[in-house]
Amino acid sequence: MQLTRKGLWGGLIREFRDFLPEISDSAITTLREGNTPLVEVENLKDIFGDIRLLLKYEGLNPTGSFKDRGMTFAVSKAREEGAKAVICASTGNTSASAAAYAAKAGMKAYVLVPDGGIALGKLSQAMMHGALVLQIKGNFDDALNLVKEITKNYPIKLVNSINPFRIEGQKTAAFEVCEHLGFAPTYHFLPVGNAGNITAYWKGYNEYYREGFISNLPKMMGFQAEGSAPIVLGHPIEDPHTIATAIKIGNPASWEGALKAKKESGGVIDMVSDEEILEAYKLLASREGVFCEPASAASLAGAIKMKKEGVLNDGDTVVCTLTGHGLKDPDNAMNNSPKPTKVPVDIDKILEIMGF
Ligand SMILES: *Cc1c(COP(=O)(O)O)cnc(C)c1O
Repeated sequence: MQLTRKGLWGGLIREFRDFLPEISDSAITTLREGNTPLVEVENLKDIFGDIRLLLKYEGLNPTGSFKDRGMTFAVSKAREEGAKAVICASTGNTSASAAAYAAKAGMKAYVLVPDGGIALGKLSQAMMHGALVLQIKGNFDDALNLVKEITKNYPIKLVNSINPFRIEGQKTAAFEVCEHLGFAPTYHFLPVGNAGNITAYWKGYNEYYREGFISNLPKMMGFQAEGSAPIVLGHPIEDPHTIATAIKIGNPASWEGALKAKKESGGVIDMVSDEEILEAYKLLASREGVFCEPASAASLAGAIKMKKEGVLNDGDTVVCTLTGHGLKDPDNAMNNSPKPTKVPVDIDKILEIMGF
């Protein structure tokens, strides 16, 4: 027997250092994020035919979402600059990630979240990691305006995706997709909220293309939720609503980045209904064994929609990013699956219910 791979995955800053802005070793704050699996879909041939479909399972990052990719870099940079505290507005996952990385860096984290609509898992993470959690009587967009104002005047580092180091870290997911496949996919589907992630992936693909590591670029396919689709509608939305709380954003910070990715790649920014999102959410869990949170399933819902509209063809390679883990949002899981069956301690009754 021989060991094939020695040494730990160093976290994405160390692994992709040549492609990232400089950072001093002593400032690197990592929970060994990145290197998430690209899972081959096997059981959805009835929907996708001979399209090769893969899932970039970002829920397997240390705090359970892709936000860790940007956060390792944003917090490391803040540490390098001597910051003592970080702050963010969040629909949940950013706060969980900021709180964890701040704890690792020995910093204070302040997080502003909307009062209500934060999935239980995410809120409990921010609390456990010792962040000061402020629930504001407003939505995400209000929270983001507040943290921008606060960081203008106080020595606290803003770690929302308007912090350019967030995008830098997040672009590494595109590198991993290329390395795992050996080429870039034909289409890349993503949920779109604040639009930082689609901006980051497009940047990543372009950098690998310029280096000659890949010889094609994917079409970027961003999907918003119908009740929260400002980019699709072409104007900000005062009161966004969707079951997919992670993408419940009415005025995305990286609006321009999303449009640029769409235009340059020949892709789309489109929307799917909450029903389509929940359908995809259940399909992934029950037929592929992959549990993601509702917002994440907007990518697969988008792919199903594009397949129905005849956009995707046999032979295409399609990647859907699943942005966050299903355990983040136990309430939606409980509300969208069959309830457990209560039974007496009686083997005959149990076998009868099992169908034997
Ligand atoms: C943050 C988040 C999104 C949206 O990503 P953006 O970069 O804001 O577009 C989607 N899904 C999950 C699970 C998220 O946490």
